[in-house]
Amino acid sequence: MSGEKDVRVITDEVISRLERGEIKFSEIDQAVGNRNLGTLIRRTYLERRYKVSLTSIGHTILDFEEIVGRNIENPIGAVQIPLGVAGPLKIVGENVVGEFYVPMATTEGALVASVSRGAKAVTLSGGAYSMVIKDGMTRAPLFRLPSIRKAREFVEWVKEHFEEIKRAAESTTRHGKLISIDPFIVGNNVWLRFRFTTGDAMGMNMVTIATDAACRFIEEKFPDADLIALSGNLCVDKKPNYMNVLMGRGKTVISETILKSDVVKQVLKTDVDSMIEVNNRKNLLGTSFAGGIGQNAHSANIIAAIFIATGQDVAQVVESSIAYTWMEKTKEGDLYVSVTLPSLEVGTVGGGTWLPTQREALTLLGVAGSGERPGLNAIKFAEIIAATVLAGEINLVAAIAAGHLARAHEKLGRKKM
Ligand code: NAP
Repeated sequence: MSGEKDVRVITDEVISRLERGEIKFSEIDQAVGNRNLGTLIRRTYLERRYKVSLTSIGHTILDFEEIVGRNIENPIGAVQIPLGVAGPLKIVGENVVGEFYVPMATTEGALVASVSRGAKAVTLSGGAYSMVIKDGMTRAPLFRLPSIRKAREFVEWVKEHFEEIKRAAESTTRHGKLISIDPFIVGNNVWLRFRFTTGDAMGMNMVTIATDAACRFIEEKFPDADLIALSGNLCVDKKPNYMNVLMGRGKTVISETILKSDVVKQVLKTDVDSMIEVNNRKNLLGTSFAGGIGQNAHSANIIAAIFIATGQDVAQVVESSIAYTWMEKTKEGDLYVSVTLPSLEVGTVGGGTWLPTQREALTLLGVAGSGERPGLNAIKFAEIIAATVLAGEINLVAAIAAGHLARAHEKLGRKKM
């Protein structure tokens, strides 16, 4: 009781100081010596100031003593998002084999059911095969050179001194390994696109810190190169772009399956030719006519829901959901489908992956934390995500194809009358 009383007294006291402008939101935790209490005080201050109830936001299992300084500032509680599972989805991938229930956090009704029906069609047809064909997180610092001749000389110097630059970069991390530096010149501007493997981490912090160390070495040894920005926007992080499509970022991953024609009929209630027609006219022609990046039906739905469920950086849905959905008829009359994701940025370590609910979601997939060898869990996770996007694409294209047919049949029936 006395503890509760103390909390009330402290809360009132700090709120009075906030109102008098003697303390900032960001200073409360330190002033009261406890981040969970700081969270409560900020929430109570807002409730009183705006005359609202934030009781639901206040109900959380999160321990802000652990989270502040890693994942959030000025916390007032947490939001909850419903979590469903899509599956079972059979995957016979390069590194994952099994049947999976994939956690998806969403508020979009019908999404999980839709992916589940696609998963059923994939599973009944023997499963999806997934494969990561390129792996590497990138940072592209931008340098200003005095002239275009110096710019070319700088690029040559970087090539010649790759091993030293690599040593400087890797001095900051155990898991980050510099694979390549791709130079781009525009006028007297030079971007150096650093690419690292990052173990099981998505790697954005790791790579930024390592590239910073490399840039300090470069500036010291090549003083004509003036670092303008550690991120020169050619990385490319959290912006729609073609750089990642062509060069890759994070995991470049493909998943494929062959849907048996009778499964297309019985489970998806349509036929192979109708699905191919919808994919060609909608996903391929429609997107290219609109000037879109990627050609898919709704990969962002699946990527966003899995990202939220598993503690990924949700803003990276922008480029992670770029996907190319391809459909063609096999000689046997079945439906070949593949989904290619050039820029899937995921990790099973770091960021929000250690938060309790997110970690459990990764555990459900058998990929939480570090892999048997560094990077294996993140690769497995990418294979699972690609297969889930494949299931989502299959179902939506099928639903559209079936809807089109239903309307066509209806129309035909009326004509007959
Ligand atoms: P991180 O948590 O910053 O780094 C991963 C950490 O885990 C490193 O300290 C690494 O140690 C350690 N580690 C232990 N076991 C590992 C394993 N098996 N594989 C890889 N690392 C292992 O995470 P991050 O992925 O680099 O960065 C993700 C965060 O960056 C997210 O919160 C995201 O929102 C944020 N972000 C940052 C920027 C930026 O510009 N800084 C941009 C976008 C997003 P070693 O390094 O010694 O290997």
